[in-house]
Amino acid sequence: MSREIIEIDGSYLEGGGQILRMSLALSAIQGKSVKVINIRAGRPKPGLMPQHLSGLLLGRDICNGKLDGGVQGSTEMTLIPGKITGGEHLADTKTAGSVMLLVQAVYLCTLYGNESSHVVMRGGTDADFAPPVDYTIEIFRKISSKFGANFDILLNRRGFYPRGSGEVIFKASPVKSKLNAVEMVDVGKVKAIRGRAYVAGKLPIHVAQKMVDEAKRILMECFGDAQFDIKSIKEDQQKAFGNGSGIVLWAETSTGCILGGSSVGKPNKDAYTNGRDAAEIIIKAFNAGACLDHYAQDQVVILMALAEGKSRFRVGEITNHTKTAIFVAEKLTKAKFCINDHEKGSSIIECDGVGWDPLN
Ligand code: ATP
Repeated sequence: MSREIIEIDGSYLEGGGQILRMSLALSAIQGKSVKVINIRAGRPKPGLMPQHLSGLLLGRDICNGKLDGGVQGSTEMTLIPGKITGGEHLADTKTAGSVMLLVQAVYLCTLYGNESSHVVMRGGTDADFAPPVDYTIEIFRKISSKFGANFDILLNRRGFYPRGSGEVIFKASPVKSKLNAVEMVDVGKVKAIRGRAYVAGKLPIHVAQKMVDEAKRILMECFGDAQFDIKSIKEDQQKAFGNGSGIVLWAETSTGCILGGSSVGKPNKDAYTNGRDAAEIIIKAFNAGACLDHYAQDQVVILMALAEGKSRFRVGEITNHTKTAIFVAEKLTKAKFCINDHEKGSSIIECDGVGWDPLN
C-alpha cells in the first residue's frame, strides 16, 4: 500500500456529499489513502452531516481503515484504508438522512471484500435530493448488475423526513472477477412501464392512486404501445414509520435500458404533480435518446472507472453531478473519460476503465 495521500477538493463543481462517497469507495477498494478538503463546500451547511458521517464511519469499518476528521461538521477528512472485510455492520443516520446514500457510499467496497456483507441501515428511505429506495432497488441495482456489480436491498420499513427511522438490509458477496465494461448507446423502444406509488401513516390510498393515474395518463400519450404496471400501495404500520408518500417509475426498453423517474410527496405538493414530475423525467430522458436517466448518469461513473475496458453510455444533458464524479474518478484512478456531444441535448460518455482486479 502506497504512503502517498491523494488530496481531493470537496468544493469542486457540485461540491456535495457525492465527492466524499466516491473518494471513500475508491480509496477503500484500491488501498489508496485519501484526504478530502472543503467537504460539501457547495452546500448551505458545509461539512459532514449525519448521513455523510454514518456513511464514512461505515466505510472505515468495512475497510478496517484509520479515519481522521470523522466528526459531525468536519470539513476535512483523511482515510488510510486497511483490508476490506465483509461481515455484519449497522449504520444509523439517526435522522431522515438517506439510507440509499449510505448504500451509494459502500456498496462497491463490499464487493471487494473477502466475505459476504450484511449491513442494517437506518434513516430516511425516501428523501429529497437522494435516490428513493425503490429507485435503487428497481433501477440502479439493475444497471449496476450489467457491470457484474450485484447487491441486494430488502426494505424492512420506510422512513421519511423529518424523523427517518426507516430500515433496509443491504447484502452483497465479493466479486470473483473484474467488473465488465458496458455499452448502451441506443435507447430502442419502450416495452414496459412499471412503478409503485405509496402512502404511509395518515395519508389515504387515494393520494397514491392520483399519482398513478396522472403518471399513467401522461406516459400513455408517449408510450401507448407499452405494457403498463404501476401499483398504488398503502404501507401498513410495520412497513413504515411516520407519514409520507411518493412515486417511483421505470421504463424498460427493447435494448435493455432502464430509465427511472420519481417524486417524493410533500404537504404543499398535490399528488397529481408528483405523478407528472416522475413521468416527465422518463419522457425527457427518452426524447433525448438517453440510455440512462438524469440521476443514473453520475452514479455509473465509478462503475465505468473500475470496469475493464471501454464503457459507453448515451445520456441526456451532462449534469454537474456527472462532471464532478468524473473529476473524482480521474483523480483517484487511471481511468480516462471523454464526453462527446452527440446531438442537441444528448452526449456520449466514454471511459477506458482500469479493470480493478478483486485479487489485488
Ligand atoms: P449534499 O447533502 O451535500 O447535497 P448529498 O450527500 O445529498 O450531498 P449529492 O452530492 O447531492 O449528495 O449526491 C446526491 C446523489 O443522489 C447523486 O448521486 C444523485 O444522482 C442522487 N439522486 C438525487 N436525487 C435523486 C433521485 N430523485 N433519484 C435518483 N437519484 C437521485
